[in-house]
Amino acid sequence: MTSNSKFRPETIAAQTTRPLDPSTGAVVPPIYLSSTYARDENYQPLLKENYVRNGSPNLWQAEETIAALEKGEAALLFSSGMAGITTLFETIPQGAHVVALSVMYYNTREWLQRLEAKGRITLSLIDPNEAGALEAALKPNTDLVWIETPVNPTWDVLDIAAFAKAAHKVGAILAVDATATAAVTTQPLELGADIVFHSATKYLNGHSDILAGVLITRHVDERWKEINWLRTKSNSPLSPFECWLLQRGMRTLFVRFRQASGNALAIARHFSNHPKIERVLYPGLATHQGHAVAKKQMLDGYGGMMSMLIKADFAGAQKFCTALKVFAAATSLGGVESLAEHRKTVEGPTSTLPDNLVRLSIGIENVNDLITDIEQALGQV
Ligand SMILES: *Cc1c(COP(=O)(O)O)cnc(C)c1O
Repeated sequence: MTSNSKFRPETIAAQTTRPLDPSTGAVVPPIYLSSTYARDENYQPLLKENYVRNGSPNLWQAEETIAALEKGEAALLFSSGMAGITTLFETIPQGAHVVALSVMYYNTREWLQRLEAKGRITLSLIDPNEAGALEAALKPNTDLVWIETPVNPTWDVLDIAAFAKAAHKVGAILAVDATATAAVTTQPLELGADIVFHSATKYLNGHSDILAGVLITRHVDERWKEINWLRTKSNSPLSPFECWLLQRGMRTLFVRFRQASGNALAIARHFSNHPKIERVLYPGLATHQGHAVAKKQMLDGYGGMMSMLIKADFAGAQKFCTALKVFAAATSLGGVESLAEHRKTVEGPTSTLPDNLVRLSIGIENVNDLITDIEQALGQV
């Protein structure tokens, strides 16, 4: 565990560079681009690994920071979020059962459906808002319960502690895609989850300039060792330069996330009774599905992610996105800049989302500029 872990989260994030480089005192760490590391006179590696596919100093620094923020025993960074997710899925025993959500990040859902179609796993996709759905889906051979909270892109909030309790009863592990809570406002491991996942492409990095994923574990066990083995063999650890960029991004994680949360709450409130909007989906609104859980589980803001159901058809919702001037009509989330996306266009033919859903990733800009921009774009629909 990192020497930083005795400090509070804001300090851990801001000082991702501790301990300082002992040979130079550089406050910002050097980037170790070397792909290979020499052995000493006893033919022992000088570092704990000697080849960049197995690890690098920049990788370990970033992993220690993230493990400390999530209060896990270890973290593993991957070359993308999907690389992390699919590596975890690779550890599911042949023929075992998996429970996930009928609405969630669509690439994850499609990957699980592919494994099911190949006979690798059996799969139950549940509606978490249906009472008793999880308990009814769990089986004696359930290996993994995979959830996301808040759920992308409805932003429903799921009770992690309740999911963990139910999963553990049948001997399954609970893994939580916590991309939207950014290691700032929710601590899934403390609530009983076994593995936490982030697309570090999003809030952790925060500047929309790398692709990265991370898994964090409560305990280093056999399954975790297999994940580590798979990462090495499949050549998917994050490269040193991207680790360095990620670390730089994380230094401002808390101020970025809090500013985005504050902006999002103001925007959600402003537009919740707007004549051109059917509904605003945001966990911070008292009317939102899961607000009660959000209040006890999202302790440092409701995040920067929301969706709006525009009073428009498919084409009108697309028009809204392109009419925005401050928001960019682009996919992804969690960056300092605001983005708007017509989700059904991106998800393609398997999407079950309404035609009029626009997902907004609220950035750290001046909130009045964002509100004015949404107002003028709605005026054009
Ligand atoms: C982006 C995203 C992913 C996938 O991560 P990549 O870094 O794009 O591979 C997974 N889950 C959620 C919730 C995401 O937003």
